[in-house]
Amino acid sequence: MKQIRICFDAKNKSSFINFIVCAFLIVIQFSCTEESVTKKEARPEATLEKLQLVHAKTLERIINYNDFLKQAGKEKKTAIKLLFTALKRSEEIHAKNQFALLQKHNAQPISVKEEKVITGSSTQTLKMALSMEDLSTNSVYPALIKLADCEKCTDALQIFKITQDSEFKHAELLRYAIYQGSGMPKLNYKVCPACGYILTTEDVIECPACKGMIKNFESI
Ligand SMILES: [Zn+2]
Repeated sequence: MKQIRICFDAKNKSSFINFIVCAFLIVIQFSCTEESVTKKEARPEATLEKLQLVHAKTLERIINYNDFLKQAGKEKKTAIKLLFTALKRSEEIHAKNQFALLQKHNAQPISVKEEKVITGSSTQTLKMALSMEDLSTNSVYPALIKLADCEKCTDALQIFKITQDSEFKHAELLRYAIYQGSGMPKLNYKVCPACGYILTTEDVIECPACKGMIKNFESI
């Protein structure tokens, strides 16, 4: 507004100097507006960089859970095998969502050096899985959420929050299995195809994480 007022003054006085000043201010005004727009649409570089790593780690976890479910199968521990099958499916959905997010922001997935996980007994694999899930919920996802919020990357923020809810459920199911030990019952797992949230009850009508309809859940 200030610049516009100066413009009118410039016209009234027909002063060449004022006209130059006015033109200069208009140029600054336009360049500022352009800069604000660029800033607003800036690529969330730090969020995408971390997302690439998390996506690679999720792919690695799918492999881990596949090994763990095979081990449970060898030990004829059907209840644990079922749990790892549900966890693996859930992680596949997380990986799919992370990949879609990377694509949306024109970022490429990366591969990381695979950490060799030695598959022990089913009891050991449950504990290993719990420590991985605890790391996700207590450290990885809170950091990602903070980063996406800071860079105003709203789509990533939404996916990270939903995935964190899903990871909390993974940890809860693993704790339950460890607590039950050899008396672990066979549960009916249902996985949300949209966000990977795992349910063991049918007493809800929508996904607690993404609000997807329970009728669409995949039975394991
Ligand atoms: Zn869901």
